[in-house]
Amino acid sequence: MIIIPDIPDVLIEQVEVADEITLTLRTTSPTACCPSCGTTSSRVQSRYSRTLRDLPASGHAVTLIIEVRRFFCKKSTCPRKIFAQQLPELCRPHAQRTKRLQEALCRLGLAVGGQAGADVASEHGISGSRDTILRLVRQHPLPDSPKSRIVGVDDWVWKRRQRYGTLICDLEQGLPIDLLPDRSVETVSTWFKAHPHVNIVSRDGSSEYASAIKKGAPQARQVSDRWHLVKNLAACVSVLLAQSLGKLRRAEQAAANIPEEEQHSRQPHSHPRTRAEKLTQQARQAERMARYEQIMALQKQGLKSADIAPQVGMPERTVREWLSRGDIPYSGPRQERARLIDPYKTYLLSRWHQGYRNGPQLERELKAKGYRGSPRARYRYLQTLDPSGFSARKRSSASVPRQTASSMQPNPLLTLSAQQATWLFFRRPEDLKEEELESLRLLRQASPQVEATYHLVETFLHMVRERTGEQLDAWLGAVQASHLQAFQSFVTGVQQDKDAVLARLTLPWSNGPLEGNVNRLKLIKRSMYGRAEFDLLKLRVLYQSKKNRDRKNKKKNNQAQQVGHLKKPKIMKSGTNSQHTTTGISKVA
Ligand SMILES: [Zn+2]
Repeated sequence: MIIIPDIPDVLIEQVEVADEITLTLRTTSPTACCPSCGTTSSRVQSRYSRTLRDLPASGHAVTLIIEVRRFFCKKSTCPRKIFAQQLPELCRPHAQRTKRLQEALCRLGLAVGGQAGADVASEHGISGSRDTILRLVRQHPLPDSPKSRIVGVDDWVWKRRQRYGTLICDLEQGLPIDLLPDRSVETVSTWFKAHPHVNIVSRDGSSEYASAIKKGAPQARQVSDRWHLVKNLAACVSVLLAQSLGKLRRAEQAAANIPEEEQHSRQPHSHPRTRAEKLTQQARQAERMARYEQIMALQKQGLKSADIAPQVGMPERTVREWLSRGDIPYSGPRQERARLIDPYKTYLLSRWHQGYRNGPQLERELKAKGYRGSPRARYRYLQTLDPSGFSARKRSSASVPRQTASSMQPNPLLTLSAQQATWLFFRRPEDLKEEELESLRLLRQASPQVEATYHLVETFLHMVRERTGEQLDAWLGAVQASHLQAFQSFVTGVQQDKDAVLARLTLPWSNGPLEGNVNRLKLIKRSMYGRAEFDLLKLRVLYQSKKNRDRKNKKKNNQAQQVGHLKKPKIMKSGTNSQHTTTGISKVA
């Protein structure tokens, strides 16, 4: 049974198996080298026993007790008169654990962190506290990073709004190669100076990174990142769409309220109602109830009434009112109650029949008679007298579609938030569902500005997706010609960073791989419960990156071998041939 590694000059004297396994060992070599001067000595001064923890065997902890000898150094000038025999294959000087146990703990720490590593270790009979593991991890050398030609830089949040770090990835492999403690021009440019082989850098639109790269790697071509570019454009479009939707919502609201009043006043409280009326009533009530439930659900998710309103297609004020009532308002026939206008109705009616129909004029007369109600109430009453002649004066043409929209189904656009509307613009049409396509169609019809915006976005996204950067100038011209205010800040940004944007629109590189790696970094950071120091975080991120790289390379090699084996079984036998193949591949790549 092999429990301990095969170490020369060590003899197992005794094996004791209880809860733990204890091995008593003795060194056998008659001589040892002085660690200071290297002189070999055979003069034993004394012996002592050293206790070492080792990897467990079959779930039992293993302890090694080794008898170690001390020697006199033969060299008279050596400052070290006496030295203890070293066992470099088994353990480091003064260590309490064998090398292989330390390595196992370190790997655990790098993979899952200090405390989690200690927990896993203890479940497997390995002794090692969180602090021990972290100490071992800190002693671990940083993995070598490959000489990358094409890199991406992006920032990551160390502490929101306070501290940010920089992650640098190899874009060809999609893996992190370094982590910087901040995102200052100084730090980033220093890194690039130390890596002169970089010739393409993808970055976000920040001027800080732009100047750092210019300073540290003037030879490199800068590429403005696609995600940030599209995100900035989306922000501009979102403003424009929010304005358009706001206008639409206000118009719809104004239209929806009044026909509803009309409807009530035209069929004033006819009891008993017909069955059809009852059904309509019930359907409307159910729809309102559903909407109320949706509002409640959104509120439970932590949304404020301002955020709920656009999603349910209702004005924020109404949402707030419903929420504060804790119920939906009665939506049946209007209940009779005394109104301020009531005492003046006879007077108004007589004036109406006399032919006086001028609203402001009637208003003044009522005021003179002591009316303290609103002009709106007076207006409503006059409407009941002659809905077609009075109220339809202003809105005759649009009243029919409005009425169907308000009473049958809500305008689908009103259930869209500006964010959702923007999303419709930016996704590929083939990825949209049928109802989304319909919303998009309606949205584009909302105003000529929205339609123009849609075309500008479409063209820009086409440039981004198909990398047709040569169209950029034409696009900028089209934006200028459209006079759309919302695009101005985006255009200014593009013009200031035109080379990098153009590079993005012609080269295949993007910060896409960084997104996933930043998320992985955040996961590692959070798994350390906010107690992560930068050095530990960096070690763990780069260690995992190296493991991923090794895994990828292994997979690639296996595939290459399989292909080679299938195609040319004989060639693989020769070392020179496989070398030729490798250089061939790198030339093509
Ligand atoms: Zn010596």
